[in-house]
Amino acid sequence: METRSLDEKEPICAVYARVSVERNSESVEHQVSLLREFVRSKGLGVIPDEFIYEDVVSASKYSIWERPAMKRLLEDAKDGKFSILLFKGISRSVRDTQEALEILERFKQKGIRVISFEENYDSSREDSKFIFGIHALLAEQESEKISVRVKLGMKEKVKKGEWAGLSPFGYRVKDKKLVVDPEEAEIVKKIFDMYVDENVGTSTIAVHLNEHGYRTRNGRPWSRKTVRDMLKNEVYIGRITYNKKSLKRIRDFDSETQKKKWVRIPNSQDDWVIVENSHDAIIDKKKFEKAQIMLAERSRNLEPSNVIFPLAGILKCKKCKKSIVGLTSKAKGKTYRYYCCNTYLRFGRSFCSQPNINAEKIEAYILELLAEKLKTIQDQIVLGKNIGVVKPNTKDIEKKLKQVEAQIEKVNRDTSELYFERDNMEPLQYQFIMQQLREKAKSLNEEKEQLLSKLQISEESEEMMKEVESHLTEFFNLDISEPRKVRKVLRHFIEVIWLDDKHLDIHYKFDF
Ligand SMILES: [Zn+2]
Repeated sequence: METRSLDEKEPICAVYARVSVERNSESVEHQVSLLREFVRSKGLGVIPDEFIYEDVVSASKYSIWERPAMKRLLEDAKDGKFSILLFKGISRSVRDTQEALEILERFKQKGIRVISFEENYDSSREDSKFIFGIHALLAEQESEKISVRVKLGMKEKVKKGEWAGLSPFGYRVKDKKLVVDPEEAEIVKKIFDMYVDENVGTSTIAVHLNEHGYRTRNGRPWSRKTVRDMLKNEVYIGRITYNKKSLKRIRDFDSETQKKKWVRIPNSQDDWVIVENSHDAIIDKKKFEKAQIMLAERSRNLEPSNVIFPLAGILKCKKCKKSIVGLTSKAKGKTYRYYCCNTYLRFGRSFCSQPNINAEKIEAYILELLAEKLKTIQDQIVLGKNIGVVKPNTKDIEKKLKQVEAQIEKVNRDTSELYFERDNMEPLQYQFIMQQLREKAKSLNEEKEQLLSKLQISEESEEMMKEVESHLTEFFNLDISEPRKVRKVLRHFIEVIWLDDKHLDIHYKFDF
């Protein structure tokens, strides 16, 4: 039993393996056996089977932090389940240099030693960060080169009238060309007929299809958007267009996490590839063009700017937890306003049973309820009592701001230190690290700007609290014939209203 306790003292090594769905991908077994051999020869410890983390990825669509095995790996690192993390090649497992550096930093902070076999990188050696950085940079350039090659290849294919990728609804791919799928083509025709000839709106078309048991190619219900996208798709008149837009990955500054997200960015017209009559049309050009004109007109009429729904953004459907939107309908020359669950609107009655609700009635009822509540607040103020308004939390933002400012200072220090060290370094090393620092400084400064604007918003809302009293006055003098004003005042007091059939569940911004 003594040998056993000796074994237990051996450091636990974890392996992160990335398997690609692309051809010629290296197997996990191969990566692991190579790393086992490496660990044995260096006497680093053991690699138990349960510490092999395996992510299957297609191309490089997801950031490494969104991959399931990487998430588990981070959790286990936090719990101190292993002390060494091995990659066969870290720069191959990630999208870009920035991500590779983030990985090193995240695990280093958790006290984990990171070793990457291919880059001869070991975080316990100070110097190896340079070596690693250069490897990562080279790998990134290689992957960019590949993507340019792929793009050029696609362009050539399209020019020859070949279809690359999944076939659109209504077609199948045969010998690299699109051929009409008779069954699906009937649905495509039905959609254009309903829209152009019968003047039926996209939402109603979607609901009609769903209620007749039709589903999209991937088995999902039809929505206003899928119908709309289909009406706009030039493939149905036998035309292939390629490269009108590019997919780019950018930082999303709206979200708290500041994760990167994918967006479509239009390309210049010179880069477009358009091939006419590359395959059989399902819809004739005349009908298609008519649909385009109707789409343009309808989108202008969709949200009339003169009609405002005071409860928009406040009212939510309790049945499906989605938002409730304001709509209008015309009958006998009069416009009626009503609220409608967005799920029902998009997918039909079988997806949410929340009935539509008359706008005037529900608005009047809510104003009445609010008036009662606010009367109590007013009484409390008159009695000199404090009202429990929810205070915005500025402390966390201020704390984060201090951290970011300290980081900026550190990067500035590192930059000047690096400058004085330049004579002792290889030019390539120097340039690479300098570039990294500049990028880091840039993103930190952007983060700082973000936090400052958040603070400003908080200060503004604190001022808003001071204005509660004036809001009360505003409320009791409210002219309900001005929907914009009503909405503004309602938002001062109400967080959200959950609607369940005709039952209302109002969440106020106050503690009563
Ligand atoms: Zn609903």
